[in-house]
Amino acid sequence: MTKIWANSGDSHLVEPEDLFDTALPKDIAERMPRSVKDDDGVHETIYIDGESFRRRMPSVTGLTDDEGKSVIERAPNANDPVKRLIDLDQEGIWAEVVYPSIGIWTASIKTPELLAAGARAINDWAISYQESSPRYVTTATIPLLVAEDAATEIRRAAGLGFKAAFFSVVPPGEDDWNFPSWEPVWEALSETGMVLAFHIGTEPFAATSFAGRYMRGPGGAILNYMETTYGGQRAVSKMIASGVFDRFPTIKVLVSEGGATWGPFVADRLDEAYRQHGSMVRPKLKRLPSEYLYENVYASFQHDKSAIPAMTAMGWKNVMWGSDYPHLEGTFGHSQQVLHDLFDNVDEVSARRMTVGAFQELFPHVPEAPAA
Ligand code: MN
Repeated sequence: MTKIWANSGDSHLVEPEDLFDTALPKDIAERMPRSVKDDDGVHETIYIDGESFRRRMPSVTGLTDDEGKSVIERAPNANDPVKRLIDLDQEGIWAEVVYPSIGIWTASIKTPELLAAGARAINDWAISYQESSPRYVTTATIPLLVAEDAATEIRRAAGLGFKAAFFSVVPPGEDDWNFPSWEPVWEALSETGMVLAFHIGTEPFAATSFAGRYMRGPGGAILNYMETTYGGQRAVSKMIASGVFDRFPTIKVLVSEGGATWGPFVADRLDEAYRQHGSMVRPKLKRLPSEYLYENVYASFQHDKSAIPAMTAMGWKNVMWGSDYPHLEGTFGHSQQVLHDLFDNVDEVSARRMTVGAFQELFPHVPEAPAA
């Protein structure tokens, strides 16, 4: 089996447990997000800014090899940016967009000063992770409670060397992504060239399915997982409909882990709304909504077979693969199998675009992946 090398538009780092304790004063550190695993090995409790909730830790069932043995393994080297490359080489993953793990929970912090301090602490640490290999594109954590704080950290992070800014799919405050209060943030992204990286499933505590409060009853586990899918689609729709890309045409958005076939679907629906409800549409846009989605927006998928025709049959060129390393939903331990299953019957140009090219367009500073 030839090795397929692929960039990943969706990976994660695991922060050291003492990150906040070493970087921040004790009274601030103890209000930052942390996970405490239960003795049962199944549940964990997440503590954030004086609130907490218990949840079942993510797990995956049903993926087995020919002998019926589970192919899901925990990635052993994720915590170490040097050893991590051993895993990546084994899996055939070249470069990665690397999101925070516990840092994702910062979207649930309610105190602006606390959030800004936490984001700075995470970023000061995460940039050293990025610097350990040119194959890492770590995302900066952005304090999104106050737009001016966010703009300030985007500029500071760009100065540190970050190329992508992690955003939760729903902002933690009152104003959603289509509101004018975010203008300073769009300006900062536009000015710095930072890629806006939405990771699905990052709704703040109050709005989240993560808290296990969204769906109960039969089918709940699947339904809650499905709910995490839609946030990226909504976030992108809000930016397009409110004219963000009219005013800032160079902003690039990546939606990670949410599949890709939704792109052409949402583009069609946005166009239909824009056309058929034209008399009510405010603001008017310079171009059709679909044009912004097809040009400014990128998406990563991991297992979805339907993601391939989103590019090859529906013409959305900004589709890229992602491993979700080292998370359990991801492809660790079976990445080559997944890549071959996905791409063996795809023409070479399209396959290279999805495994390497779309990623490289967003992050041209990253050295090119080896040929297959
Ligand atoms: Mn992910």
